[in-house]
Amino acid sequence: MNKEEETKVREALLSKTKNGYDRMSREDHLAMEKYCKEYMKFLNEARMEREAVRYAIQMAEEKGFLPYRQGMPLQPGSRVYFNNRGKSLILAVLGKQPLSEGAVIAGAHVDSPRLDLKQKPLRESDELAYFKTHYYGGIKKYQWTAIPLELHGVVALKDGTVENVVIGREKDDPRFVVTDLLPHLAQKQMTQSLAEGVNGEALQILIGSTPYADNGEDRVKLAVMSILHERYGITEEDFQSAELAAVPAFDVTEIGLDRSMIGGYGHDDRVCAYAELKAILDVEKIPKKTCVCILADKEETGSDGVTGMQSQAFDDFMEDLCAEQTTELRRCFEKSFCLSADVTAAYDPNYADVYDKSNEARINYGIGICKFTGARGKSGTSDASAELVAYVRRVFDDGKVLWQLSEMGKVDQGGGGTIAKYMANRNIDTIDAGVPVLSMHAPFEVVSKLDCYMTYKGCLAVYKDGYTAGRK
Ligand code: MN
Ligand code: MN
Repeated sequence: MNKEEETKVREALLSKTKNGYDRMSREDHLAMEKYCKEYMKFLNEARMEREAVRYAIQMAEEKGFLPYRQGMPLQPGSRVYFNNRGKSLILAVLGKQPLSEGAVIAGAHVDSPRLDLKQKPLRESDELAYFKTHYYGGIKKYQWTAIPLELHGVVALKDGTVENVVIGREKDDPRFVVTDLLPHLAQKQMTQSLAEGVNGEALQILIGSTPYADNGEDRVKLAVMSILHERYGITEEDFQSAELAAVPAFDVTEIGLDRSMIGGYGHDDRVCAYAELKAILDVEKIPKKTCVCILADKEETGSDGVTGMQSQAFDDFMEDLCAEQTTELRRCFEKSFCLSADVTAAYDPNYADVYDKSNEARINYGIGICKFTGARGKSGTSDASAELVAYVRRVFDDGKVLWQLSEMGKVDQGGGGTIAKYMANRNIDTIDAGVPVLSMHAPFEVVSKLDCYMTYKGCLAVYKDGYTAGRK
């Protein structure tokens, strides 16, 4: 074998992945920048699931989507959405083929780790006022101290009205903070583990220091309450029926001298939610099969509850669409495909020892396909079949989507879950794929523009294909 033949054999038989920037076209490069600008705007405004749902509905209505009502006339090309209690959203574009041939579903979540306020949050201690919190989702607690926070959510009043609260998003708004111990006095704290150094009860948010002008007790607390009353008409009792959360107050920004990455709060999983949302808005007038896009809530706490992916709400909506065509829901599900679009861990050279580098997703290598999630012995995963992985490989390649395989760290290191298993348990062929993230679940996460754009392209490719490999 001469040198030339040897090279040919090598190239044909051994897999070799190249950086996405060596493979991406000029057109894709331009489209990527445009796409990411729009995504950054979305991420800046959609800091809680309710805000993401509101933003998505606005985008969808501009593209002709109507709120679904039982019995409304539907035909191929109809565009409808179902708003589940303002916290999760399902959009559908009816396809040429009936639902008995299955649907093509993409599902992501729009909730992110944060500090929820307790139901009796307000407290004064030594003439400083605080909000007590109960964290939501998996956080490293020490990361949430000494950073600017803003307040989002709702206060529901007994008369049925709901006050929307956003404090800290506007440029001149005040912000909040969980204080941390100065290093000078942190000798003991510094010897504790990262898990113990800051505990859950210590995550109390500093919200005021001016005393009310009287001689009573809790004057600072009263002063804070009077500001809230003036602004929202609420009293301390109303916190009992509120859902308020503190989220990082960082603006979404480009990262790196080359501006190739995006830093922000809540990429997990709004980066995939935006990709599938934009993709379903961009599918052709009448797709082959019915396309469905899910923006789920409660993924970070296990997908339970009425707005989580284990809720019957999804089945009920799909059953309504099926009933319209006198199709049984199970006939539809057994031929459906679901891309569980959730972020994955990006290989981080600074923490190389927790990863098996050759099996991890890398920044700028495209959307990461995850055959299985789960922890250690693949516990808690739906594990997509080899056939399904082969199908997605084909669709992504045909659609010129840059993709890579990904896993969550070394075998014994840990792992994670997504909504995939809840979709697969419904007898829907399901596979995970999404954007690789650096510093996942931190108050400020990093993704690459290339991977964001390729995730959008990947969602669009599966919608367009219509699960041609599905069960006959
Ligand atoms: Mn996620
Ligand atoms: Mn997560």
